[in-house]
Amino acid sequence: MASGIEIAPPVKRLKIKDENDEIFMSFHKDNLQTLKYALDVFNNHLSCYGVGILNIKVCNAASSKCFSNATCDCEQFRKPSSSVPRGFKIRGIFQYGFKMLDAYIKSPECIPQRRGARLALAKLLKFLTDIELTGKTLSQGREDISETEWTVRVAHHLFSKLAVGSNYTLDNISKGRIKDAYCNCGCKERLLGDYGDTSMGVPSYWHGRLDILMDVAVTVATEEPDSPGAGNCSSSEMTSDRMIACKEQIRAEAIVFSFLQKKNHPELNNFLIPTIAMSKSQMAVCLYDCENDIFLETPRLDLFVEDKFLKIETIITLWSVLNFKYCCSGVPEEIIEFGFTADFFKHAGPHLEKYIANVKAPCCYQTENTWSAVLVLEDVKEKTDDVNNIYQPS
Ligand SMILES: [Zn+2]
Repeated sequence: MASGIEIAPPVKRLKIKDENDEIFMSFHKDNLQTLKYALDVFNNHLSCYGVGILNIKVCNAASSKCFSNATCDCEQFRKPSSSVPRGFKIRGIFQYGFKMLDAYIKSPECIPQRRGARLALAKLLKFLTDIELTGKTLSQGREDISETEWTVRVAHHLFSKLAVGSNYTLDNISKGRIKDAYCNCGCKERLLGDYGDTSMGVPSYWHGRLDILMDVAVTVATEEPDSPGAGNCSSSEMTSDRMIACKEQIRAEAIVFSFLQKKNHPELNNFLIPTIAMSKSQMAVCLYDCENDIFLETPRLDLFVEDKFLKIETIITLWSVLNFKYCCSGVPEEIIEFGFTADFFKHAGPHLEKYIANVKAPCCYQTENTWSAVLVLEDVKEKTDDVNNIYQPS
């Protein structure tokens, strides 16, 4: 650990009995080593579990664009003398979450007193206890299922199992939506979420529908199994390509979602709000802070090891993101001191006020994409030149 600062433990021995006490004790006895090993990876300077700092070079936030047509081209922060982008460890962004885990590792009785954080910890421990089965459930036959089916599968088996707020809304006008209320993977479990309006945005500016709406916004980017050329790629190649194609869309969603959370939840501890991009083999997270104009992004993180075992470090990252209200400590001072802001405020210019005041969900605004209506036509003054004299070849 680089930090030598001793911080008072945020947790105390729990006095009241609750339904999660058993998992706190049993996990500590049987599975603690797995969690310990995973946490070590987050301390490594060369691990992919970190965030880069982004500056927007070109963006079309001042125009009326749905997210899929948003432009948000960014550059990563580099120190003047270095060609390699610099970032920060993910545990520096989700300090409350990692402190919770560090304390629990020391003793099963060091668990958070606040109900939300305690439930978050219990959900992670339960998930890790069943991680093998969940990995199998998620990975089985995933190359052959549609994007809509994959969306249901991850909403049910990943997001709602890891998030304190386990309810979710799936886009009700997504292509080929599944009508019944049960998961499609063969587990026959009833879905906790429902289909509904997942639109959000700023009318006349960036707006659109998300694939999954929870406390965080999620966009699923997978190649359809029958799409041209998909047959020649491995699952990981084809899904990551789609994620790259959706990068600017997800960045625009992340920016708008931060303004939305600030407007709807001014009581939040900070406004560094995550948005998730998920494919069939990887995930990535964009975080925008609309108060400080700071934009962070993780690399693409593998979901699986050997294609069928869920990667614990990615699951812990996803857990911190989904429960950001309890885990995220906001933009660290070190990043503020760099002075490397996103420049979204600059790009939005006089339109920034609209992002702050008019952002909403649902936002059923439709981009004007038809040709002009019939016009009232004006006459123009006739030119008097002789048509025969206009072009004279030399
Ligand atoms: Zn299922």
